[in-house]
Amino acid sequence: MTQDTQAPNVDQQASSHRDNDVRQRFFIEDSPVRGDVVRLSRSYATTIAQKAYPEAIKRLLGEMLTAASLLISTVKINGHLSIQLQSSDSNSLLNWAMAECDQDGIIRALASWKSDTDEQVQAWDNMIHAKDAFAELGAAGQGVLFINIQPDGGEPYQGIVERSHDNLADCLAHYQKQSAQIPTLINLASDGLQAGGILVQMLPRTAAETYEVEQNRDAGIDDDLWTRLSVLTRTLKAEELTTLDANEILYRLYNEEKVVAPEPVSLSFGCTCSREKCEMAIEQIGETEALDIVDEQGGTFEMDCGFCGEVYKFNKDDVAAIFAE
Ligand SMILES: [Zn+2]
Repeated sequence: MTQDTQAPNVDQQASSHRDNDVRQRFFIEDSPVRGDVVRLSRSYATTIAQKAYPEAIKRLLGEMLTAASLLISTVKINGHLSIQLQSSDSNSLLNWAMAECDQDGIIRALASWKSDTDEQVQAWDNMIHAKDAFAELGAAGQGVLFINIQPDGGEPYQGIVERSHDNLADCLAHYQKQSAQIPTLINLASDGLQAGGILVQMLPRTAAETYEVEQNRDAGIDDDLWTRLSVLTRTLKAEELTTLDANEILYRLYNEEKVVAPEPVSLSFGCTCSREKCEMAIEQIGETEALDIVDEQGGTFEMDCGFCGEVYKFNKDDVAAIFAE
């Protein structure tokens, strides 16, 4: 293993790191196992404070943000990765939801839901868990769950994730196993105030290692490791993922293993909206249509960003200037 083995190990860091908006990578020494722990606290609270989300959506967005922050670490790109849910049923109370993380650990999320009638509001009041909101996509096979990877200046990639389970974590783990052929464990949790999760992967063995295993020689390969880690990782409770520090989580799970944990990456809320992007959107609408909207809205075309609440205003002259070039 060529990764950062100079870094202090988990035992030394266990109680020293108190930042709860981090992604902590880890490796099990002398093994093909690597993973990440994500903890979201302030960054998550700021994200979900942008709208009056029902509890179940707050929690679902917490899981989605955690998942996006974990998954971008597995794809090694400059750019961003988002997880999107899209309902295909017009009666669904959840229309869509998306959560995004970029290579610098900047996260944002947004969801659209129905709460126009008392009945709909009541229905949301009765939902508590993330998977209640997830179930609003409809039965398995309905609705769409996908992962978008957008490298800066590169070709975007979209993966359709089968809704094989009733919760996001198991669907994503199933997808990783099917699409990348990499055994993956994913555990996600969110309590509406904090969120956290862990992803563990066993990378493919080298040809030499595979040969050694097939020849049944003692190559120092720990064949029980993955089984052991699977069992351990499932012992983690939701409240541990949402309250403990990343390094405490690692220590609690794997203190019998040789864990190497490099410096963590900070995660924070941020938005990529800009006046320039709004201008591009207005260009798409077309000049006549855009000017009509200016009139309809009393002289100012207001575009507000759902992610961060920023409002961009365009009057007639602004709109004309966009099309003047
Ligand atoms: Zn914004």
